[in-house]
Amino acid sequence: MRFDIITIFPAIFDSYFNESILRRAQKNKFIEIYVHNLRDYAIDKHHTTDDTPYGGGAGMVMKVEPIYNCVNAVKSQIPNPNFQKNPKTRIILFSAKGQRYTQADARRLSKYDNLILICGRYEGVDERVAKYIADEEISIGDYVLTGGEIPAMIVADSVSRLVPGVLGNSNSLNEESFSPAKIQSASRRTKFNPPAGGQNSFLEHPHYTKPEEFLVQGGVADGKTWKVPKILLSGNHAAVEKWREEHSVN
Ligand code: SAM
Repeated sequence: MRFDIITIFPAIFDSYFNESILRRAQKNKFIEIYVHNLRDYAIDKHHTTDDTPYGGGAGMVMKVEPIYNCVNAVKSQIPNPNFQKNPKTRIILFSAKGQRYTQADARRLSKYDNLILICGRYEGVDERVAKYIADEEISIGDYVLTGGEIPAMIVADSVSRLVPGVLGNSNSLNEESFSPAKIQSASRRTKFNPPAGGQNSFLEHPHYTKPEEFLVQGGVADGKTWKVPKILLSGNHAAVEKWREEHSVN
């Protein structure tokens, strides 16, 4: 899986993609991430990537030409893995008015070979990018961010973990929140059938680790003991499983 991220602030990605699981996934060649500086594709000598809005109004709008040039350049750089005739590429524009991103989208996008992610800034992006260049517009939630860089990290992160090999133990994928198995197992139980809050209501059960009892010292809870639920210490696998299922639904 290859990600190409188009941004005017490429340095934002340096830290996040060079730590932990995503770093290892790149090292082991399960994923490739390329960050492209949009300014390199601007057509004027000042590398202008934005301009004033037609019709007036506040703020600047990101121009269509540099994005068009950059996307074309990126497409020409994408190799044809395994001599496939049509490597599956999806071009995504981040925008607050896009379709709300969910785990189902992460699963859908993980089936592509290449994702080209376009990060907007300022007042947004010339609408011709959404209309003629992008395959889809994604919003990561009903709030406005200063740019599409965090959404790009969110999509690259959530899709990468679904790429085979990226997570050491793929079992954790089967059992985690919003997974098809989690939805199915919750639906099987008559108590929660049909799903009360739609598919998104099926979350993973709570986790606990050592110590069994945490004696709080200081603060408003001073002197209190916070305990792990007894059932998890019982060694009774069936009872633990039942408790986890019951606590998988919000
Ligand atoms: N004027 C725009 C509006 O009212 O919807 C907001 C533009 S925002 C300041 C600049 C850029 O941040 C957008 O072009 C988009 O790429 C990104 N962005 C902001 N909020 C987002 C969200 N909820 N989901 C995805 N991208 C977002």
